[in-house]
Amino acid sequence: MSIDLKQFAALQKASKDSFFEQKKLIKQVMAGRTVQCKTCKQPIMLYTPEQEEETGVRCLKGCTDISLDFV
Ligand SMILES: [Zn+2]
Repeated sequence: MSIDLKQFAALQKASKDSFFEQKKLIKQVMAGRTVQCKTCKQPIMLYTPEQEEETGVRCLKGCTDISLDFV
């Protein structure tokens, strides 16, 4: 098996971009802004430990699902 370095670099860039996208999304949701899921267009909600056992930022359908650890 060989590794295509170009492909690997592209993959790294993609995950980096989505990391920043996620961070931006979490900030907006935490600031109380209504953010729509890109996939299902449903509002993305923040789930805190008081509300849910599985904490994080999720849409109703679950296509956006970012786990957050509340300490
Ligand atoms: Zn969704």
